[in-house]
Amino acid sequence: MNVVPSPQAGGEVATPLTRRERAGLALQFSGRINRAELELVEFLAGVPADHRLSSAEVMRRRRTAESHRYVHAAEIAERMPDLFATFRADGRYSVDHLDTLWSRVNRHARALRTSDPATDVLLDVLDAAVATAIRDWVDRTNITAITALSDVADEALVAVAPLVVAQTEEREAEEVRLTRQGTKFVLDCGTEVIAESLWSSISDVALDWRREHATQDAAVPDGDAPAAAPTMSECRGEVVLGILGGRMEQLSVTVNMYTQEGAGGYLTGIGWVSPTTAATLAGIAEQVRNLPERAEVPATASYRFTTVQRALIEGRDGRCRFPGCCVRADRCDHDHLVSSPHTDPTSDGPTSVENGIALCRTHHQLKTLGIWRVTSPDDAVTLHWAGPGKITATTTAAGPLSPAHLGPRPDEADPPTPGPR
Ligand SMILES: [Zn+2]
Repeated sequence: MNVVPSPQAGGEVATPLTRRERAGLALQFSGRINRAELELVEFLAGVPADHRLSSAEVMRRRRTAESHRYVHAAEIAERMPDLFATFRADGRYSVDHLDTLWSRVNRHARALRTSDPATDVLLDVLDAAVATAIRDWVDRTNITAITALSDVADEALVAVAPLVVAQTEEREAEEVRLTRQGTKFVLDCGTEVIAESLWSSISDVALDWRREHATQDAAVPDGDAPAAAPTMSECRGEVVLGILGGRMEQLSVTVNMYTQEGAGGYLTGIGWVSPTTAATLAGIAEQVRNLPERAEVPATASYRFTTVQRALIEGRDGRCRFPGCCVRADRCDHDHLVSSPHTDPTSDGPTSVENGIALCRTHHQLKTLGIWRVTSPDDAVTLHWAGPGKITATTTAAGPLSPAHLGPRPDEADPPTPGPR
């Protein structure tokens, strides 16, 4: 591939790239990105298994789900070293390919745990069958699609352990899950039959609701334009929300909102909302508390943080203070940055806002175990973390009460620095 001069290089006149050159560059970078991903996977494979998730969170600073993908990939690199070497050399395979393989094999983990005492041996057999099938497939074809990779793995699993696959299918049919992605709820009904019958019932009610709306709209006085008819998916949404009571006026939930004049409101776990929505929520709130300034809240002699201290810590931190963690502060533990004499007689950490940080249960535990250590130069606004593999990282409190929000914003936290393995 020809090297395309960078527009900034040595003061040269920038040459606009042709479409072909751009495509070439994109392809080149895709290969580099894939290789870089697998480089990180290899690093993680060298970290002890129970330290991988936190290490990936610090390195990537993405959502926990993303870090889990890297952890799964590292496990596959460990379990299928030859296949991993093939993928690395190729440059077209990514962390997603490895994560897919992990999920196809580990999908059967629960069936394996109950069906056979020699689980480890059986898992090795499954790993070997999948690794061989995939390598053979990579050699024979030029296909890199993840769905095809998934099919090849499943085919190998069915061939080598049909009973285990049958058990898994049976169990999955009984599983029901409801998950949330932002404003969307995803309900997994377990079986197609239940999903189909629920969908029909909701659709029937939604259709009635839609007809009713159409009649009302037809009755608007002359001169007023009728509102556009709601779509069927909007009607289904209305039906389900109606059943669950999902209307602002009907809500009975505890949300902590921080408001400041003219700045809208900050809802823990949700983020900033407009001044109008903030006023609506404040209007229906059962409890409104005016928080004092941080300097006015003294340290206390007890071990537990007071309600006001906790509100100030949560408002300053917004989320768990571990690098890359997204757990909202009101679902976190309130941890003493420097241990309290109540838990460690050799330590003298006060119970104060300056010595309190929000940490989710997982990251609280990693800190307590000493796997990750933390210090702060500025009363918990900035935290310096040091962990396994000599990884270091810095986080800044990002909640609505953080000084980082009130004054000029500091630079983004330092990128993590991997140390020698
Ligand atoms: Zn956390």
